[in-house]
Amino acid sequence: MKSFRKELHVHTKTRRGMVNITPQINAALTESGIREGLCLVNAMHITASVFINDDESGLHRDFERWLEKLAPEKPHNQYNHNGYEDNADAHLKRTVMGREVVVAVTNGQLDFGTWEQIFYGEFDGMRDKRVLVKIVGE
Ligand code: ZN
Repeated sequence: MKSFRKELHVHTKTRRGMVNITPQINAALTESGIREGLCLVNAMHITASVFINDDESGLHRDFERWLEKLAPEKPHNQYNHNGYEDNADAHLKRTVMGREVVVAVTNGQLDFGTWEQIFYGEFDGMRDKRVLVKIVGE
């Protein structure tokens, strides 16, 4: 069995954002040379997510509004976590949106359902963040 590991780097200009990282995952899969197996993609931070959904801007605004209802960023003092930090909402949003995804690799391709794309969800951005890609198979 072969194993491949790669880190991607993300730096959003805004506190929150969703970045389609599917092209980078496809490039990593090509680089790995693995044709059959599994591809894990996870955020390496506890205030960011990796999730699969549609690349549709209206839906992304809907996610933003829904997450702000569930865990509003402000007022910062509504959260016990916010002493030295102001990112309690980001921890909560990340938990709802998930840490990682696993995609089957078939015939050298990510074996997606229709419209499935991989996103990095940032909830406490404007700094360097990392995403781990691990691909195993043959
Ligand atoms: Zn924190």
